[in-house]
Amino acid sequence: MEFDYTPLENEGNQKYREQLSIVVEEIQEELKKSAYEYYSVGIRLYKDYLEDETSLYLFGRKKNEQVIIGNLCISIELMLKAIIAQEAFIFLYSGLPDEIAMALTYPDKVKAYNFASELTSFKKPKSIEFNEAITRFYKLYPERKKEFSGYLDNISDIRNNSVHTYLPKYYKHQLDRIVYTTIKVHDFCCEIKMYFDQILGKDNFEMKFMEEYKKSRVEEYEKKIGDAKNKTKSTGLDAQNNSIFSDEWNKIQETCPICKSKAILHGETVFLQEEELIEDLWDNSKIMILEYLKFNPASFECSVCGLLLEDIIELEFASLDVAIDRSELMEDWKKEKNIKDNDLLEE
Ligand SMILES: [Zn+2]
Repeated sequence: MEFDYTPLENEGNQKYREQLSIVVEEIQEELKKSAYEYYSVGIRLYKDYLEDETSLYLFGRKKNEQVIIGNLCISIELMLKAIIAQEAFIFLYSGLPDEIAMALTYPDKVKAYNFASELTSFKKPKSIEFNEAITRFYKLYPERKKEFSGYLDNISDIRNNSVHTYLPKYYKHQLDRIVYTTIKVHDFCCEIKMYFDQILGKDNFEMKFMEEYKKSRVEEYEKKIGDAKNKTKSTGLDAQNNSIFSDEWNKIQETCPICKSKAILHGETVFLQEEELIEDLWDNSKIMILEYLKFNPASFECSVCGLLLEDIIELEFASLDVAIDRSELMEDWKKEKNIKDNDLLEE
């Protein structure tokens, strides 16, 4: 079949369409650049903070903590938004007027009206809040959620405090965690090729920081394990194996690696679908939708020996399963979430 490429629209519409796509590209580029500038400033301030041994304290606390945290949090927010702008532009906004949403998703429908100026004026549509940016980032990359969630979940409160009011006394390890999160998000941006030149050109400071941070996390983890072992020994604890609750969607029972009692993994159950092409004996192909329920743990808590593992890194250190199949509960899940069966789609 031959397609007819004769333009149906007048030149005016064409012009507005082009302007709109130029503006979209500009917004994508500017977001990327600003995110990177906040990132660089934040990292440089943190570096100074570590090196500045002489005039460290101002009013009883190290200088610049709030400013470092503010810059890093803003860079995280803008990097996430830049990712969203690159992958699914209209999700950068909330409550987009129908006309603009339509122009962006169906550019062919653009009538002679300049949406481009609406996107760039100061009264431009509101971009999403930080938490929404995190949620939408997970929607674009659901498989990366468990890796980031422990780090991104509290960032928006910290950001708001550091930008709008004052931050309560911050501990070095909390600050380090934010630096780690920022570099991790930046690394992800390089991975999806949003930033090109930083992959190899990343200066040694960030590399070294990431290595040292992981090392310090190992030490922290070993101390936790040591404390839990000591408590188990000194109190002569016996493993307690009473069922502590019936499993729920956001927690699951797990044996404590130290005292062997029944303990809790907190996390989230997610419903996943995967397509598989299958052929029957007569060479008819069908798309089969395979469904799974997976439990992604985020933390572990044993009330008997006191072991508390707070994120995916520590769970992995303890060799706890970080992707548990719960598909056997599919029927309950569907009933509760009101999902209808629709297993086979014919092609
Ligand atoms: Zn325990």
